[in-house]
Formats: sequence, structure tokens, C-alpha cells
Amino acid sequence: MNMEDIFSQFGDVFGGGGGGSPFESIFGGGGSRGGRRRKGTNLRIKIKLTLQEIAEGVEKKIKVNRLMVDPSTTFKSCPSCQGTGQVRKVMNTMLGQMMSSATCPSCGGAGELVDSKGSGADNSGMNRTEEVIAIKIPAGVSDGIQLSMSGKGNEVAGGVAGDLLIVIEEIEDDQLKRDGNNVIYDLYLSFLDAALGASVEVPTIDGKVKIKIDSGTQSGKILRLKGKGIKDIEGYRRGDQLIHLNVWTPKTLSKEERSILENFKESKNFIPAPSKNDKGFYEKMKEFFE
Ligand SMILES: [Zn+2]
Repeated sequence: MNMEDIFSQFGDVFGGGGGGSPFESIFGGGGSRGGRRRKGTNLRIKIKLTLQEIAEGVEKKIKVNRLMVDPSTTFKSCPSCQGTGQVRKVMNTMLGQMMSSATCPSCGGAGELVDSKGSGADNSGMNRTEEVIAIKIPAGVSDGIQLSMSGKGNEVAGGVAGDLLIVIEEIEDDQLKRDGNNVIYDLYLSFLDAALGASVEVPTIDGKVKIKIDSGTQSGKILRLKGKGIKDIEGYRRGDQLIHLNVWTPKTLSKEERSILENFKESKNFIPAPSKNDKGFYEKMKEFFE
């Protein structure tokens, strides 16, 4: 009895084709089992997003170099496995001869071989094609998140294409810091603006806005611009922008400035006198983040 005979014998017993053989599920042969098909490899790309793009969501058109089946390639059924992608192997065990299946070495499990191909294709009938893919990125993604587009990775002969994996990278903003769905801005006020009151421009995700600073504003106060933050990835709610007020103390003074300020040394209004309403840093943070 030669090997062919053994195979055909088992083929009869177990119903031939790749689909229903019990051995494939026992031995995890893969390949043609239960409609499972070969899958092309995944492609991974990085996309850098600004805070504005993250806040609103964005569509990006990205050039992807995909391995694709050349349109001129034709295939024929693999003679080694009769197109099943699987070959059977006999194993000698304590219980006698058993059979397992393995991926066909001739076709790599595809069940087919290249019959003819165009001049641009490699030996597997594939070529690299640059494709522009539009990727919709939802609002609220964060650094390191991985999105996946199924079927946009590398193709494979006789199988389904792999996935395109998109890794998100946040470009750090010069002025606005992200804290979850909130955006934090550190505003530095001159001592004069804090004492006299002022109207100042602050950057937001949607552009500049003017905010009013009350006279007698203390350093450390936090202002909230409602809904000026980042959309939640799972819903429609938007975070806020928190403006952290810092009163800037002059680091150097001219002779004239010094003498003017020294006039106020004895003035009662310049002596710190915090009331219960002038909360410390801890109370302010608690109020805003609870
Ligand atoms: Zn084969």
C-alpha cells in the first residue's frame, strides 16, 4: 500500500473533502475548516491628530501600500491537495495509526496556485498597490488607541484580506492640555488685570474667545467654559474647558515701579485677608472634578 492508497482510504472513511472531517477540528488543522479562510496580513499605520481633530472627529485620507492580488493573475486548483488547502498525515500512536491534517505545503493552504500572471506581479500573483483610504476617526479618541478597518489590509490569494489597524497619536497642543474630555488652559494674568479687572482673549478648541476677569480676582481661581472640551467617544456629551488663573508677579522692577509699589506697603487693601470664600487649591480641585 503506498501513501496515495492510505489517503484515499481515509478519505472514504471520513468523507473526503476538507470541510467535515472530524480530525481537522481535533487537531486544529485550520485552513478550510468550517468555512474559515486564509487571511492576509494586517497593516498598521499611525495617524497623528491635533486636539481640534480629536475634539470633533475627523476624516483622514491616508495612502496605504497594500499587497493586492494582481488583476491579471489567474489561479488553478492545487493538485497536491485537490483545492482543499489541507493535506493529511498519518501518525503512529499507541492507539494505532491516526490521521491528522496539515496546511498544504504546495499552496500554503490557499487551495490554488498561480496559473498565469501579468508582468507586474510577483511569483504569488500579487503586487504592491498604493491606495488612498478614507478613514473616519470618531471624536474623543486618545493616544495609543487602535482602530481597525476590516478587509483593508494585505490581500492573499484564495482568502480574505487582512485588516488595516490605525494607531492614534496625539499631537501635543502648545497651549491647551487635555485631561480626559476636558481641556485645561493656564492663563497668566498681570497683577494689574487681576486687581483692576480685564477682558482677555483665551484660546479654545474652537478658536479664541474673550472672557471677563472680575476685579479682585485671586490667583488659582478656575473658570469653566462649558461644552468647550472634547466630545466623548461613546456619546454626544462634550467636556469643558477649564481656565486656571495664575497671577503673574513681576520678577524685576524698575526704580520707578518699585517706589510706586512701596507706597502701598502700609495700605490695608494689600494685606492678604482670605475669607471662607477664598478656597484653597484642594477645595477648588474638589469642586471641579467631583
Ligand atoms: Zn495545495
